[in-house]
Amino acid sequence: MAKQQQLICTFCGRKREEVKILIAGLEGHICENCVEHAQEIIAHEIPHDNHTISTKTSDNFSVKKPMEIKKFLDEYVIGQDDAKKVLAVAVYNHYKRINQKIDNDVEIEKSNIVMVGETGTGKTLLAKSIARMLNVPFAIVDATVFTEAGYVGEDVESMLSRLLQSCNYDVEAAEKGIVYIDEIDKIARKSDNPSITRDVSGEGVQQGLLKLLEGSEVLVPPQGGRKHPEQKLVKVSTHNILFICGGAFDGIDRIIARRVNTNAIGFNVNKELQEYQDSNLLQFVNSVDLKQFGLIPELLGRLPVVTYLEPLDAKTLRNILTEPKNSLIKQFTRLFEMEDIALTFEPAVFDFMVEKALEYKLGARGLRSISEAILTDAMYELPSKKVKEFNVSREYAERKFNTTKLSLLKVA
Ligand code: ADP
Repeated sequence: MAKQQQLICTFCGRKREEVKILIAGLEGHICENCVEHAQEIIAHEIPHDNHTISTKTSDNFSVKKPMEIKKFLDEYVIGQDDAKKVLAVAVYNHYKRINQKIDNDVEIEKSNIVMVGETGTGKTLLAKSIARMLNVPFAIVDATVFTEAGYVGEDVESMLSRLLQSCNYDVEAAEKGIVYIDEIDKIARKSDNPSITRDVSGEGVQQGLLKLLEGSEVLVPPQGGRKHPEQKLVKVSTHNILFICGGAFDGIDRIIARRVNTNAIGFNVNKELQEYQDSNLLQFVNSVDLKQFGLIPELLGRLPVVTYLEPLDAKTLRNILTEPKNSLIKQFTRLFEMEDIALTFEPAVFDFMVEKALEYKLGARGLRSISEAILTDAMYELPSKKVKEFNVSREYAERKFNTTKLSLLKVA
């Protein structure tokens, strides 16, 4: 009688009982160890940019064109059309760049972005919404916590630690993520003239950022903070990481005004045009103004896309309350719904909230604290009562708001 043939892995020769699984091919078998090994070889041998095309990031991305990206942003962010358009194109080009074949002789440069706009106008929200759409790792870092290597504070590399943490240390995913650097204006050089003094805190950090922004291999302390000799560092390539910077750049309007006015030809500048320009100066912002403000030219060279966010007026604030997909009012309504209470508002309540946000100069961020101030009592009491519906009138809103600490804030 013929002896039954013993099954082995054709690649490593291990017997069936020595492995967990043997996968059958046409003329042989392969075990899980060899599959794993083969995967490593593939990852090593096939250039990064080529084999990453089939990852989840690119799959998600491939369906969104700039107009679709903007439409997606419209669901979460009110207004700011110019910034949305610029971002949509920059992000689209960025991922086109990632997906391009490496044998292509035209190298597309990175489209890192700077957003200029008052605090609370939606800069972070825009960056977050982009990351949500692309389903890529996303980290928000504050430029003010970083210092030049050797000084007290965090090394700039640790902003990549946050990115790694956000995706459970999946280096490959992190290498296609987005980092939002907030308060970039706070690391501006104090004087436009580099020869006067060397400003360690600001200029040093800007210098440190250069190599991250341009795309290089960076050794990152996985837990963040400062690098120290005993710590095992993780190598991360920033080649395909998109950096979006944001800042309020207080006083940049004066710099823009000076430039715009000097450029005006002739004495008889149209008065209307002049007024329009004066009230919407931010829209003219460009790298020259940012340099004047104190960002070094090398850094600006790596942040080729500059855009702006408009200040929020009453109409925009009103829309922010109710329009976005997860607007404040929708969130509160949902919270009450979970208690089986139908929450409704008199439209005048929204006007009241907007009035207060403007009066106290709280911007969109203030809408949340104002809503909380008005609804906290109801959220405290109603779950213990058998109430099925609750309508908030303007009178109720005013009464509740006036009894809160918020109303004691001094209006500047
Ligand atoms: P910034 O980064 O410009 O300081 P944020 O993006 O953090 O401001 O905005 C603060 C909050 O205000 C956001 O979480 C959001 O709820 C709201 N907000 C601000 N601007 C807008 C906007 N244009 N559309 C919708 N919500 C906004």
